[in-house]
Amino acid sequence: MSIDRKYFEEMEAKIPHGKVRTRFAPSPTGYMHVGNLRTALYTYLIARHAGGTFLLRIEDTDQGRLVEGATDVIYRTMAECGLSHDEGPDVGGPVAPYIQSERRDTYGKYAELLVERGHAYYCFCEKAESEEDSGEFDRADDPCRDLPLEEAKARVAAGEPYVIRQRIPKEGTTTFHDASFGDITVENKTLDDQVLLKRDGLPTYNFANVIDDHLMGITHVVRGSEYLSSAPKYNLLYEGFGWEIPTYVHCSPVMRDAQHKMSKRNGDPSYEDLKAQGYLTPAILNYVALLGWSPRGEQAEQEFFTLDELVKAFDISGISKSPAIFDIEKLTYFNANYLRNLSPGEFCKVATPYIRESVKNEAYSVSEISSLLQARCEKLTDIPEKVDFFDALPEYDVEFYTNKKSKTDAAVSLDMLQKVLPKLENLPEWTNDAIHDMLVSFAEELGVKNATLMWPLRIAVAGKLVTPGGAVEICHILGREETIARVKAGIAKLS
Ligand code: GLU
Repeated sequence: MSIDRKYFEEMEAKIPHGKVRTRFAPSPTGYMHVGNLRTALYTYLIARHAGGTFLLRIEDTDQGRLVEGATDVIYRTMAECGLSHDEGPDVGGPVAPYIQSERRDTYGKYAELLVERGHAYYCFCEKAESEEDSGEFDRADDPCRDLPLEEAKARVAAGEPYVIRQRIPKEGTTTFHDASFGDITVENKTLDDQVLLKRDGLPTYNFANVIDDHLMGITHVVRGSEYLSSAPKYNLLYEGFGWEIPTYVHCSPVMRDAQHKMSKRNGDPSYEDLKAQGYLTPAILNYVALLGWSPRGEQAEQEFFTLDELVKAFDISGISKSPAIFDIEKLTYFNANYLRNLSPGEFCKVATPYIRESVKNEAYSVSEISSLLQARCEKLTDIPEKVDFFDALPEYDVEFYTNKKSKTDAAVSLDMLQKVLPKLENLPEWTNDAIHDMLVSFAEELGVKNATLMWPLRIAVAGKLVTPGGAVEICHILGREETIARVKAGIAKLS
């Protein structure tokens, strides 16, 4: 075994320099949790803000955790969110491949290089994988750490199974800098000689990410703060290779409440879940951007940001190191605002499937129903229940006809419905204006408030106390025949 210098030189030559380069490096788990989405977003924003390059790398070294179709969820989420990557498994790029399992040979070579440079060693000890992963063993006693390299190489050549471990200095301290957490110093004796290359030749995550970030020319590493404690070991690896250390940006977790991190396992919603709950992607992104980042200066008070506005405003110094609490109410507030700001056509497009969940009768105009809903829903999933009365008049309580403000009770309502029925039957045309004008002038003729006439009519045609839209719009959508049938049913109920 001799080190192939040319290989390493060629790899170095491929690394792009001179621009900000960031990567989103998800493990394919089958869903995108909120913290992950936030990492993707911040990573994207840092690159775009600086006119740099954003790349996607799939970290699938943990083969045991692979989930079928999981990378599709990643691609789909990124595309829906508009977080377009410049390099990645699907689009290629100068430092391909972008999937860790396809880079397997690279890690082995670099692990050997690190052994050669004295910062790693072959270890032949029988240790359980779990022990390797947790790092809970006494490295001081590892007999392989002090094996002469020639002897170790001979055992490797003879086919003895081995792992490659990082050789952490026994003394001294390691300091690393994080953009939001500042300088952190740890005593080297608290760090374990972690496994870099496993018995099966696959790298551990802790090794692969350093190799890839270097070979992909990553300038800013954005990730969850659960990796903060591994950062000193990463620094020692970069130093062991003689490589420049990227800027670390660790983000505090997104919490469900003061004590608990959000977690899919405990039922907290992922990005896909939020969408299924009726939230719009731009609203989710906007809210997630503010979970752990705040704008500065002129925009300090601004809440609503498009993705382009975020690109302009985003600054690493605005990232907070305190954990952010995910507040569904706040997201709902953002969502309601986004829904209201859509054009009527856009709103209709997103609302249609939800309207059609309960309004199956094609005769009822989806765009008219949608225009009633736009100002009245906070999330799309509110819709089906709000418009369920179109297809079938619900069983309703006669008490609904009594309303103090409208000056109605059962007797007044019966009178109103009986009087308005022929008017509806004989109305020359069935338009919103015609219905409206007739009702208003008829109320005047009867000497009653508009509401005294409109309230019972709305109850009769909708059978609900609260409806999107008033009597006029509902009658118009239902059409003359159905309106008359429902008014007659109301009269029967009240008689
Ligand atoms: N694959 C890691 C994860 O999904 C990424 C950590 C990193 O970005 O370095 O948590």
